[in-house]
Amino acid sequence: MPRVAKVEPITTARALRGPFDYLRPEGVGVGSMLVVPFGHRDVLGVVVGVADASDVDDERLVAPREVLDAELPPDLVALAHWIAEEYCSTPARALSLVAPQPGAKARMAWWAQAIADGEGLTPRQAELLRSLRESGPRVAGADLPALRRLERRGLVRLERRPVRRAPHHAQVGARRAQPELTADQAAALAEIEAAIEARDAARLLLHGVTGSGKTEVYLQAAAAALARGRGAIVLVPEIALTPQIVSRFAERFGDTVAVLHSRLSAGERRDEWHRLRAGEARVCVGPRSAVFAPIGDIGLVVVDEEHDASYKHEGDPRYDARRVAWKRAADHDAVLLVGSATPRPESVRALRRLRLPRRVDGAPLPDVQIVDMRGTDGALHPDTVHALADARKAIVLLNRRGWSNFVDCRTCGHAWTCPNCDVSLVLHRAGGMLACHHCGHRERVPRSCGECGSVSVARHGTGTERLEHDLGALGHEVLRLDADVRDPASVLQAFERAERAVLVGTQMVAKGHDFPDVALGVVVDADATLRFPDFRAEERTFALVAQLAGRAGRGDTLGRVLVQTLAPEAPSIAAAARHDADGFLEGELARREALAYPPFSTLIRIVCSAEEQGPALEAAGAIGARVRHASVLGPAPLFRLRGRERAQLLLKTTARRAAVRSVGEAVAAARVKGVSLSVDVDPQ
Ligand code: ADP
Ligand code: ZN
Ligand code: ZN
Repeated sequence: MPRVAKVEPITTARALRGPFDYLRPEGVGVGSMLVVPFGHRDVLGVVVGVADASDVDDERLVAPREVLDAELPPDLVALAHWIAEEYCSTPARALSLVAPQPGAKARMAWWAQAIADGEGLTPRQAELLRSLRESGPRVAGADLPALRRLERRGLVRLERRPVRRAPHHAQVGARRAQPELTADQAAALAEIEAAIEARDAARLLLHGVTGSGKTEVYLQAAAAALARGRGAIVLVPEIALTPQIVSRFAERFGDTVAVLHSRLSAGERRDEWHRLRAGEARVCVGPRSAVFAPIGDIGLVVVDEEHDASYKHEGDPRYDARRVAWKRAADHDAVLLVGSATPRPESVRALRRLRLPRRVDGAPLPDVQIVDMRGTDGALHPDTVHALADARKAIVLLNRRGWSNFVDCRTCGHAWTCPNCDVSLVLHRAGGMLACHHCGHRERVPRSCGECGSVSVARHGTGTERLEHDLGALGHEVLRLDADVRDPASVLQAFERAERAVLVGTQMVAKGHDFPDVALGVVVDADATLRFPDFRAEERTFALVAQLAGRAGRGDTLGRVLVQTLAPEAPSIAAAARHDADGFLEGELARREALAYPPFSTLIRIVCSAEEQGPALEAAGAIGARVRHASVLGPAPLFRLRGRERAQLLLKTTARRAAVRSVGEAVAAARVKGVSLSVDVDPQ
């Protein structure tokens, strides 16, 4: 029996190098979760190994304080170590991603079960027994006293057992019939099913136009995995915006589905996690963190809307759930199935493509017209205004929230900027505030200029708030959806129910919503995303326009999309207008190959920040000089953020593993007091 448990304490300190040795209590193995004394406090720890003897003096080993009832499957412990290496982080931080949140305990209750028939019962007792026989074991609840009396007569068994806190969208029981697949769907499913059967860790891309029935393919592919005794993980973008897919899985599979997302209560999360861990639930649906669902023998990992930016995690470790999904599937010999109408060039190159080229309802894709905005004042072109007047329901996308993007003084030119960041403040009229979209700084809207005293303050540009107002002034019923809206689901519902309405918002309006009667889509300032100095700018622009087009013209409504732009010839916009995903992807891959950008290389971004510019640049320079196996761009100064001066290094490599390791060493060696470092492998 190994005496020693090697424990990784879950702390965020980077300098700490675990694991640390403790005495191993009986039954504790890799994946066990413990509370251990560590320094002067008790911390949560995960057992990452066991050993017969310790390098530390055995006499000094201490026992854990507590063994928790949650146990990580060993494959997730290994996955955490992989993530730590892959994203230049620490095992402790990666383990904190995969481990369930401690704290919540099982909720216990008395369960009653009828075990015999009795005589001489009161009518109420007879009724209780009858209902128990019908329902099977159930929570005693208010009937407990009466049931106790029946228990004493040997007619009922009472037992203390956990009760599940079920998230309310898990509609238990009701299962909707599955439709007859179209020929394209059936062909895709046949390949997926064969791949699950073959256990050869196939990696597939379901490239299907919007409305082509990708979700139905995921559903039946998950059923195919279940039929072989295997589990499935289904990743979706933010749950708040995609409630439809969750309820479709819940309807189809009932209690076999667990949902894991951040809006659950701690108790619901705990119970869903344990149902998966115990094998009671075999399918997990959720956003990026659901890739860590504790399912044994996974047969299928789905990534829906794989182009979505939410799959990248913004805290350390900066993991990309799409890459982790690929690793998780490979570890389980499972099929990786990523789907999108606008797949990433990376996926197109690396995965075998299955196609759904037609909409299920046979409707044609909407007619997309480019509206040249050069020489037009105002946010909307006259043609757009006319089209909106004719349409019963329309969606208008403007990827900028707030009223106007910057405010300055007409007299002296003074511009209002954030005191913590080098960016303009955005006017939010509803709250009477200027706000920084980077650090959250807010201040009252100025009445006069602080520099010259002039009361002539100019507002420039248009955001969603102003567009909402302008469209209202044109007589439309307007609903707005952006990050300033507290309850996105209710806005979507109101839009669905409305007879006539315009939905205005940021990219949130272009997510996979399925409204049958949207006649018009409008993209305002389509080239805004192109102005970012980022090699993914073209890809993002294409996806945004194509995804919005996918919302229009479903059901029997003829769809039309207007794309307002100052750059009508931009390849991404022109290709989206032609619905030419293949042409766009081909051109984009050729461009990336020529410039050696991903997927033909890996990028690593290192940001150093400090109070002063000097030390930040110096640290970045020192790291750049040490890194091997990569070409180094920079250091370059970045705009000041949250009161910190910043410098950036960009590394490009074709030897990913070696370069990441070298970055880890360089970063450790370059640690300077007062300089913080962040490493982002595959930055977005
Ligand atoms: P996508 O995910 O590709 O945008 P969906 O899966 O949302 O498309 O499908 C669009 C609509 O078509 C949904 O309302 C869905 O229920 C329906 N649907 C999907 N497959 C079929 C089918 N084989 N027969 C009839 N309706 C279908
Ligand atoms: Zn002024
Ligand atoms: Zn700021």
